[in-house]
Amino acid sequence: MSHLMNTYGRQPITFTHGEGVWLYDAAGNKYLDALSGVAVNGLGHAHPKLVKAIQNQVAKMIHVSNIYGIAEQEALADELAEISGMDKVFFCNSGCEANEAAIKLARLYGHNKGIENPEIIVMERSFHGRTMATLSATGNRKAQAGFEPLVSGFVRVPYDDLEAVKQVASRKNNVVAILVEPVQGEGGIHIPADLAAYFKGLRQICDDNGWLLMLDEVQSGIGRTGTWFAFQHAGIIPDVMSLAKGLGSGVPIGACVAKGIAAETFVPGKHGSTFGGNPLASTAGLTTLNVIKEEKLRENAMKMGDLIREAFKVEFAHTKGVVVVRNAGLMIGIELVRPCSDLVKIALENKLLINVTAEKVVRLLPPLVINEAEAKELVIRLSGLIKQFLAAPIEIKLDAKHHEKATW
Ligand SMILES: *Cc1c(COP(=O)(O)O)cnc(C)c1O
Repeated sequence: MSHLMNTYGRQPITFTHGEGVWLYDAAGNKYLDALSGVAVNGLGHAHPKLVKAIQNQVAKMIHVSNIYGIAEQEALADELAEISGMDKVFFCNSGCEANEAAIKLARLYGHNKGIENPEIIVMERSFHGRTMATLSATGNRKAQAGFEPLVSGFVRVPYDDLEAVKQVASRKNNVVAILVEPVQGEGGIHIPADLAAYFKGLRQICDDNGWLLMLDEVQSGIGRTGTWFAFQHAGIIPDVMSLAKGLGSGVPIGACVAKGIAAETFVPGKHGSTFGGNPLASTAGLTTLNVIKEEKLRENAMKMGDLIREAFKVEFAHTKGVVVVRNAGLMIGIELVRPCSDLVKIALENKLLINVTAEKVVRLLPPLVINEAEAKELVIRLSGLIKQFLAAPIEIKLDAKHHEKATW
């Protein structure tokens, strides 16, 4: 019997090591990793420059407290400010913590303005994490069920709907911020119909009302959509941005990045973290950003993402059951007409690592280093499996869980 808590529906596989886009099991089988540990291993596995930088840092010093200066953390903050056009960074250890920092920052910003009961606008179908505040901000009833009472102070509106946000603005005077993903990841790879117009619109509403525009780029950031951050497709700059996943290439690190008044809101005693931005994690972050720059991985993500989407469209031109293939760089979703979580296991049996989210969406988040040959192999292997899956008769599942529907 395993002594691990039963929190994950795990696949029956254990890997021993990896190289680039490939992972290996103990029997020496080779798997094409099209998930990157859920958007974490952007540099692929065992990137030599990252391995060397981490080894060097471990030999010097892994951790010192944030009550001392940390040169590696300063350097990473400088770099993040430079590539985002923003001002200041708070470091933590994960995506939910980065969002917790953003939520606390927004509330403090509100209280500083004399708003007693500040509220934050959040989206339907969103995902912001599993801690109490971020779970409450998340737009998924299934994830929230059983954990009530939820944290109050969130107003929910439909995604990609500026009118809904304007209506909240006209009816409430205690809103302090909007928290939104530029591309919804867990929700099913949803990209606003006109991403630039939507985020320009949100920027304008925030400016008009004195709200903070807070973007959750935990999944979409760090080169994944072809720019450092997805907001850069819209030509705006947010007040607050949360990062994690790809930032440390697997060494846990999260960041809450802020600009202008939001960058000056926290003062000593208001927030903190023991591990946040320690020398090891900061070195991993800094090296990740350097490699993305040196190896032109943003450009590669854009190119490979479009190549993969177009190749799937050709493969599925005559396939009934594929609703749509959509992507923003290497955030790729293939929406099917019916639930397809079984595809994860089928793909695994065929030495391919993928994910299914929102029941019907095959989600691909390959490493940013994926090359053309690997991208084509991914498309050929996966499109074959999806065609077979769609051609097979539908299994009637009596398991009640399969019929449980989220209300949001
Ligand atoms: C994964 C994710 C989170 C949560 O990150 P953790 O590191 O698991 O806490 C938050 N927001 C988005 C958009 C994510 O994709």
